[in-house]
Amino acid sequence: MRIVMLGCGGFIGSHLLNRLLAEGNCEIHGWDLTDDKIKKHLTHPSFCMHRSTISSSAALQEIEQEIERSDVVINLAAICNPAEYNTRPLEVIHSNLFDIYPLIELCAKHRRWLISFSTSEVYGRTVASYLPDKDYDDPNLYELRETETPLIMGPISNQRWTYACAKQMTERLIYAHHMDSKMPFTIIRPLNFFGPKMDYIPGRDGEGVPRVLACFMTALLDGKPMYLVDGGTARRTIVSIHDAIDAILLILKQPNQSQNRIFNIGNRMNEVTIAELADLMRQTYAQITGKMQYKEHPILTINSSEFYGKGYEDCDRRMPDLSKAQELLGWTPKIPLADVLLETMTFYHQNYAQTPVAESALKTCEGV
Ligand code: NAD
Ligand code: UDP
Repeated sequence: MRIVMLGCGGFIGSHLLNRLLAEGNCEIHGWDLTDDKIKKHLTHPSFCMHRSTISSSAALQEIEQEIERSDVVINLAAICNPAEYNTRPLEVIHSNLFDIYPLIELCAKHRRWLISFSTSEVYGRTVASYLPDKDYDDPNLYELRETETPLIMGPISNQRWTYACAKQMTERLIYAHHMDSKMPFTIIRPLNFFGPKMDYIPGRDGEGVPRVLACFMTALLDGKPMYLVDGGTARRTIVSIHDAIDAILLILKQPNQSQNRIFNIGNRMNEVTIAELADLMRQTYAQITGKMQYKEHPILTINSSEFYGKGYEDCDRRMPDLSKAQELLGWTPKIPLADVLLETMTFYHQNYAQTPVAESALKTCEGV
């Protein structure tokens, strides 16, 4: 299989390359601005890295030549860090919509299968969150179903929604092109993939506010408090990157089942509030370091406008309906949250802290 992979140097791209290149039988042309996470693959005979933007006209010409020769285009390229949605709204909209549109047109022109990474944020907030008592008794008011659930976003002044809205428009363009020219497509809506290499650590290999795991990890590494935005009541379901990559491979291998469909990819069993996640992470870090004082690591609460700036609004809950992925792809996520955190945090500890991993934690890590 010949694959064009856009945004191949990011978190998901790096794990997907690991698996695809290990399995063999594929030829991959990848584009990204950075290759730090995929250095080990740069000399692989089945992988050709184009270290460039996807949005210049020169790159588009090159990409079109590859699309003509390829079976599938996987689009991962995006600015997708929540701290940037309200602070760099123009860049976020460009990156998730206008930079992607020419690529959709190329796939339509050549009728190539486009697998595009969207986001569970297209669902926005749950219906339940707008009701006076905000209770979650009725799954119809909060469960996220690919083809039924309405997509509900807040006001324009809450620029948190720039990303979700751009992704939604990209989904609609893909669907419209499919209806217009029969371009095959698959849209993936990821729900909080966690794993090694998912984000930078501020002050070490990046600056700014990364996603929550890296924020809490930084606090643990630096001996600073973990901050719960608006009390940490928001809920997330967390899926291991390894389970998620299994799903993507099943999508690639079963086009009859996966084409012209949208899939939630997440793990219903791994739901936590952010406050629970903070506590689980400090317990896990005590296990990894062998230092019991981490169990009581300080956790403080902070107002969202102080943490993210003006225009932030949170998604209250993301509970995916996974029946489509189960029935059509034969996919069920397996890795429990405790193992996801142990593997991911061990990676960060090994790569960013000075002290070795405690032997007891290393044993538990084996086989993850
Ligand atoms: P990531 O930021 O690690 O990877 C994105 C990659 O795209 C980066 O390496 C970046 O350099 C590259 N990129 C951005 N703009 C580019 C451009 N103009 N030209 C070339 N490369 C460019 O993100 P990720 O976690 O790997 O996510 C991949 C996709 O999945 C994104 O579309 C994201 O919106 C979506 N997604 C991911 C998650 C998750 O849990 N990781 C959740 C929801 C959605
Ligand atoms: N969050 C938090 N403290 C932090 C970073 C994030 O409480 O240091 C919260 C954030 O407000 C959101 C959740 O953690 O409710 C997940 O945030 P993340 O940035 O990982 O992305 P999201 O799941 O919202 O896309």
